[in-house]
Amino acid sequence: MTDCIFCKIAQGEIPADKVYEDEQVIAFPDINPQAPVHILVIPRRHIPGILEVKDQDRDLLAHLHKVANQVAVEKGLSERGFRVVINCKADGGQEVYHLHFHLLGGRKMNWPPG
Ligand code: AMP
Ligand code: ZN
Repeated sequence: MTDCIFCKIAQGEIPADKVYEDEQVIAFPDINPQAPVHILVIPRRHIPGILEVKDQDRDLLAHLHKVANQVAVEKGLSERGFRVVINCKADGGQEVYHLHFHLLGGRKMNWPPG
């Protein structure tokens, strides 16, 4: 996807201060943080959103969860907890159509979300 900002970050065309990377997944701080810790965890491969996740993406999705887990621990969030969010389309508040987990922590989260 030539037009996708997260593909460009994954390919190094747009800089990001990566906190994790491997062949399949990268994680980097959200440019507009909503909590003291706000990290985006994304697959390198372009998947537009959760609606496009397929059976064959099972291992990748498991890996995204494990990376979110690992980054949360590294950021000191495992004791008090944190939130992982996937926004989907307009009502979900999705702005970037490349699948991503928001890892949010360092403050008490509200429920229900606004
Ligand atoms: P969503 O609304 O779930 O699609 O989330 C997209 C997120 O990407 C927003 O929280 C933005 O602040 C964030 N974002 C957009 N561009 C960048 C960028 N270049 N680097 C880091 N985060 C970004
Ligand atoms: Zn993309």
